[in-house]
Amino acid sequence: MKEKIIVSSCLLGYNTKYNGKNNYQEKIELIKEKYAIYPVCPEVLGGLSTPRDPSEIKDGRVLSSKGLDVTANFNKGANFVLELVKKEKIKKAILKESSPSCGKNHIYDGSFSKKLISGQGVTASLLNQLDIEIYNEDELDLLLAN
Ligand code: SF4
Repeated sequence: MKEKIIVSSCLLGYNTKYNGKNNYQEKIELIKEKYAIYPVCPEVLGGLSTPRDPSEIKDGRVLSSKGLDVTANFNKGANFVLELVKKEKIKKAILKESSPSCGKNHIYDGSFSKKLISGQGVTASLLNQLDIEIYNEDELDLLLAN
């Protein structure tokens, strides 16, 4: 039986990105051969539409570029993913780097000036607390190695 893995849906080619596009990674096809994929987009699961205004994290809140507080939506989506991970006993996730939901190592600084800082998106942070192994799109080879 294939091992289960959470994958940011935009990396699979779903047009769930804020601008209505995706972040498709060709190598994800090899991941599909090896793993049982569970696609998630926390922002859509949290009730936000696509396309939507971009959001960034500032002082623990998530704000859209128009100043709307979407923290509750981000938390709702993250909790949905958390429940899925628990229910399906999933141990690994591939999450899109730098996203305010999915970023594993970096997020934008909240000034909407394309400045990256160290930090995690809301969903990545929640999964990290559960000791889920998180990989970003540049680390797919690690999942294909053995
Ligand atoms: S929230 Fe995550 S899955 Fe959804 S579009 Fe953004 S990076 Fe991709």
